[in-house]
Amino acid sequence: MTYKAPLRDFQFILEDVLDIDRYANLPGFADASSDLVRQILEEAGRFSEEVLAPLNKVGDLEGCQLAADGSVKTPTGWKEAYRQLVDAGWPSLSCDKAYGGQGMPSVVTTCYGQMTAGANAAWSMYPGLTHAAYAGLHAGGTEEQKQLYLPKLVSGQWTGTMNLTEPQCGTDLGLIRTKAVPQPDGSYRITGQKIWISSGEHEFAENIIHLVLARIEGAPAGVKGISLFVVPKFLPEADGTPGERNHVTCAGLEHKMGIHGNATCVMAYDDAKGWLVGKENEGLKVMFVTMNEARLGTGLQGLSIATAAYQAAVDFAKERLQGRSLTGPKNPSGPADPIIVHPDVRRMLMDSKALIEGGRAFLLWTALHGDLEASPDEAVATKAKDYMALLTPVVKAYLTDRAFHVTSLAMQVHGGSGFTEHFPASQHLRDCRITMIYEGANGIQALDLVGRKLGANGGRAIMAFFGEIDSYVAGKGSDADLKPFTDALAAAKAKLQDATLWLMQNGLQNPDNAGAASTDYLHLMGLTCLSYMWAMMAEAAFRKGPDSDPFLATKIATGRYFLARILPEADAHLAKLKTGAAPLMALPADAF
Ligand SMILES: Cc1cc2nc3c(=O)[nH]c(=O)nc-3n(C[C@H](O)[C@H](O)[C@H](O)COP(=O)(O)OP(=O)(O)OC[C@H]3O[C@@H](n4cnc5c(N)ncnc54)[C@H](O)[C@@H]3O)c2cc1C
Repeated sequence: MTYKAPLRDFQFILEDVLDIDRYANLPGFADASSDLVRQILEEAGRFSEEVLAPLNKVGDLEGCQLAADGSVKTPTGWKEAYRQLVDAGWPSLSCDKAYGGQGMPSVVTTCYGQMTAGANAAWSMYPGLTHAAYAGLHAGGTEEQKQLYLPKLVSGQWTGTMNLTEPQCGTDLGLIRTKAVPQPDGSYRITGQKIWISSGEHEFAENIIHLVLARIEGAPAGVKGISLFVVPKFLPEADGTPGERNHVTCAGLEHKMGIHGNATCVMAYDDAKGWLVGKENEGLKVMFVTMNEARLGTGLQGLSIATAAYQAAVDFAKERLQGRSLTGPKNPSGPADPIIVHPDVRRMLMDSKALIEGGRAFLLWTALHGDLEASPDEAVATKAKDYMALLTPVVKAYLTDRAFHVTSLAMQVHGGSGFTEHFPASQHLRDCRITMIYEGANGIQALDLVGRKLGANGGRAIMAFFGEIDSYVAGKGSDADLKPFTDALAAAKAKLQDATLWLMQNGLQNPDNAGAASTDYLHLMGLTCLSYMWAMMAEAAFRKGPDSDPFLATKIATGRYFLARILPEADAHLAKLKTGAAPLMALPADAF
């Protein structure tokens, strides 16, 4: 099995559904003509298929090794692949031109990211976290810090990490203990232990730039006393070259269920030299830029692994001969039919296909709103910012929940073979599982959605979303082909609106009701978003003429499957969330 870059699907979504050529007035889009974008994505597809995919299994088998001197060796061939990435200029694709970037729109680089993560998820985390660190420094650093660090992060010459987690502090960042002591020269001495730091130590790059949350001596307790620091592995000289070794070391590597090739490090800060990023005690504000970037990246990662898992399942289902079709042999000259003839195997493949393709459109549509934040039209920019805040937890949690489901279906399609390590299904399932946990566990994303994002600015974002769907549906009123899609979308939106009202009435009165409803609400919103995506994809496919192109006919049939077999889950989510907290909280803790 080899990974296949979904280039035709990218092209369909970018050109026919989102029509990105109409945004030539936005930064980056003028340089992103359809022809150029196709070329870039084809090239990235080749790199992912030919260089990264063959190294995926190597990473799973070898993992990373920590040497006595604290250095970390990554799997065979990984460092060389990273060198190729840097030489080809890929890390700079979406970065600011002012710091050496190519300034490509996010909607384009989100396609690129799906290919590297689909081909080799653990490897893609090294450049992925570098980009997240770039985003944090870009948003919160001083100009001097930006000049020093950004060009090196943009080129990939240096890599980056984000350091939040400590043994006693996971979700609850208010518990951070790492301390920072101010020095006369304006720097700080950082001391503490961070755990599970992805890409924390490796031999890919000449320097590693850690973004570290810590508490300045005397700072208020809780989240109000957390500051952000940039702590380089090697202290940069005045000319920007890496100088003296800083007092930050990798004290251990985790042995994990998946993503073996990514070094998940215990990082020891022992009077390490660091510099404040942003204002004292306001570190979380800047770190949230990095975290939001990483949350979207995690949704992308889940979807990409699911894509690879689905591709492997399809290959297997076409080759494995077992049983006969219920409607008569389809492979009469063979000893049995391929299992793809069986309706229950079709169920698993169709569920996967409909979720992946709907999820891909949802991811790209969301990324486009990230680009629209820079619109000169204030109303467009405000709506885009509102949408990014509202949709980030949905992209992160809905896509990764469903992605893991898809990797599990892919294993089921493989039968016992999937449970052996000879086939890739096991690695996909194991690699995908972490996406539901890190960057804020999915339950925390759901709480963020119902507790913060829905009510922000008087509910402006969700109201805009409802308004957008209403006008989309109204605008397609008489189109008979599209009617099943718009009817289903209107019904899904009505359920989401009903749930939103229920939350307003019951969540305020008892916050446990909001907590109890949160995951079902997030899934209902995910389903509504996918329903909108399938309507837009079906519209584009009908417009282009499905009779002449099997890709378009397949798109419409897959959309119909989504409406018939996946969207009905919306009713269950609505019914469950309306039961409130009582059934969940009925038992005392000692009854478990
Ligand atoms: C492989 C790997 C890589 C990682 N990489 C990084 C990294 O690069 N940098 C970094 O800083 N961290 C990293 N992490 C840490 C990761 O972000 C945390 O694991 C995650 O934030 C959850 O924290 P926790 O594991 O302590 O779980 P906990 O906070 O202990 O949560 C346990 C469970 O309780 C739930 N829960 C907790 N609090 C609440 C609440 N208030 N309401 C409802 N439910 C709640 C959670 O949803 C979760 O299901 C990594 C972790 C792993 C395993």
